[in-house]
Amino acid sequence: MFTSASIGIAMVTADYERAEDLLRDADTAMNRAKSNGRGRYEIFDAHMHARTLALLNLEAELRRAVEREEFTVHYQPVIDLESGALTAVEALLRWQHPLRGLVFPGEFIWLLEDNGLIVTVGEKVLRAAAAFAKRLQDAGFDQVAVSVNISARQFQDPRLPELVQSALHEAGISPSRLRLEITESAAMSDFDLTLEIMRKINALGVEFSIDDFGTSYSSLGYLKRFPARSIKINQAFIHDVPTNPDSAAITSAILAMAHILGLEVIAEGVEDEEQLAFLVSQRCNQVQGFLISPALTEEELIGLRQTRSQFLPDTTPEFPGAGTRSPIL
Ligand code: C2E
Ligand code: CA
Ligand code: CA
Repeated sequence: MFTSASIGIAMVTADYERAEDLLRDADTAMNRAKSNGRGRYEIFDAHMHARTLALLNLEAELRRAVEREEFTVHYQPVIDLESGALTAVEALLRWQHPLRGLVFPGEFIWLLEDNGLIVTVGEKVLRAAAAFAKRLQDAGFDQVAVSVNISARQFQDPRLPELVQSALHEAGISPSRLRLEITESAAMSDFDLTLEIMRKINALGVEFSIDDFGTSYSSLGYLKRFPARSIKINQAFIHDVPTNPDSAAITSAILAMAHILGLEVIAEGVEDEEQLAFLVSQRCNQVQGFLISPALTEEELIGLRQTRSQFLPDTTPEFPGAGTRSPIL
């Protein structure tokens, strides 16, 4: 059992006339500590009041965004390093804000998780992703799976397996076309319940990736018990390879360990050719990152077929022990 405390501090000044007001501000500071990552303290100040108002505003905007269907999904290619082929696309949520344009999940997903709206939005993402998997299939993308991020909150709902089944059925795709991503920390937050739900979803034929691997406890014992097909090494490590020896060592160790356990490894956040060459030398299975492609709209992705694009740069070394790399698609 891991526990932590988020602490809010407010100091008595002449401005306070009532104890309740002091408690209210300490509460605001505590909520700030929570949203800043928990397990820390924050001291109340006047800016915090303004931020609280901004937060309430954002929350109201998000509720409206759900009603007005302002959310959309973009898809980032995942490439197999041995063949150079497109093997999957990751569904990534975007908010088409009427004034601010395209807003990325880093700005709002934590709030959706906090207030539970992620359950509604996540269901829409899942259904949209399944429908897009069908479109990809019809457009001739053989074997390309669509991978969907599922947050911890969604795993607390025992109806998740039914939802997955209904999304597959509605789209008319085989379960191998859909993959789910769960972060290591989400999987660990209620291990037994998560495991039970994962097994039920596995029984439908849908496989899992453990996302952001290496960022929390990374317990080997737990990893072995998760019914996952692959792990995704967190961007923070990939960002530093091969120059930072610690990140390079951790990445190599994760790869070796995963391969022994029979898991595929996907490296995310690959931005340059040195990182790619290092990953090839360590027999990483798949890569995702700006070097290959950012997340694309459905139309852009479908269009890739016509351009016969080759995802890996010409300078990419051969995969150890592999034959010649076949061109994409
Ligand atoms: P994630 O699952 O780790 O997704 C990868 C993030 O890295 C994406 O950010 C992607 O655009 C970004 N990325 C990809 N390649 C590179 C690269 O080469 N360099 C850098 N610096 N970044 C790269 P994005 O789309 O902003 O999403 C952020 C996070 O929001 C995701 O992290 C995921 O945790 C969450 N998220 C996104 N969509 C959903 C969703 O539909 N449901 C849930 N529950 N979470 C989502
Ligand atoms: Ca992910
Ligand atoms: Ca990730």
